[in-house]
Amino acid sequence: MPNWCENELTISGPDVQKVLNAIRSEAHDDEDARLLDFDKIIPYPREYRELDQRAHEYQEKLRAIDKNDPNRQSQLEALAAEYDAEPGAPWIKDGFNSGGYEWCCEFWGSKWQPAHVSLTLRNGTTREQIKCAYCQTVNHTAGLKVLLCQQCGSPLPNETPQEAFLEFDTAWSPPIPVIEKLASMFPDHNFQLAYYEGGIGFCGQARWSAGREEFHHQDVYSGPRGG
Ligand SMILES: [Zn+2]
Repeated sequence: MPNWCENELTISGPDVQKVLNAIRSEAHDDEDARLLDFDKIIPYPREYRELDQRAHEYQEKLRAIDKNDPNRQSQLEALAAEYDAEPGAPWIKDGFNSGGYEWCCEFWGSKWQPAHVSLTLRNGTTREQIKCAYCQTVNHTAGLKVLLCQQCGSPLPNETPQEAFLEFDTAWSPPIPVIEKLASMFPDHNFQLAYYEGGIGFCGQARWSAGREEFHHQDVYSGPRGG
């Protein structure tokens, strides 16, 4: 097992749901695992994916050949011929072991997809001032019974901006390149990442806004959320 790096990603901005939809996967049975798919942000290369798929198919077909089938040997040979393998080989080389692992480490900053993903949606702070989208007048909401612009009468947006709080674990290290790319995809949103790795002992804080890194500090970390 790897050392797990715990990550907390806070996303804030005008349309947090849009960001969540863009990073959501349909590829998992596990509903939580669908919440954050690195592949949607920086796609895993097709050449590795196809080899992974092929290796998976091989194993399924191998498992489907009955151990007691009198024709087992000829079926194993046919399967081996189809996949260019030794008859009865328990597996064939997949994409992950043919360069995919190195690719993930380099381009995602972690060898695997995130694990143990959970999402909390929080309402942002109540806005005391709302700018009218029509005439640009800044309205103070304190005395308003109905949210109408005091200057021109246009309705004012009454939804406070939301924040998404994603918690997930990554193998060995935080997925800095993935968050960096995500921030550049949604420059109208802010992305704040905190991470904690208790095995080697490091933690960090980083923030991106307007598609750019604002800061990234790293520090030593001695254990469950201590300094
Ligand atoms: Zn107005």
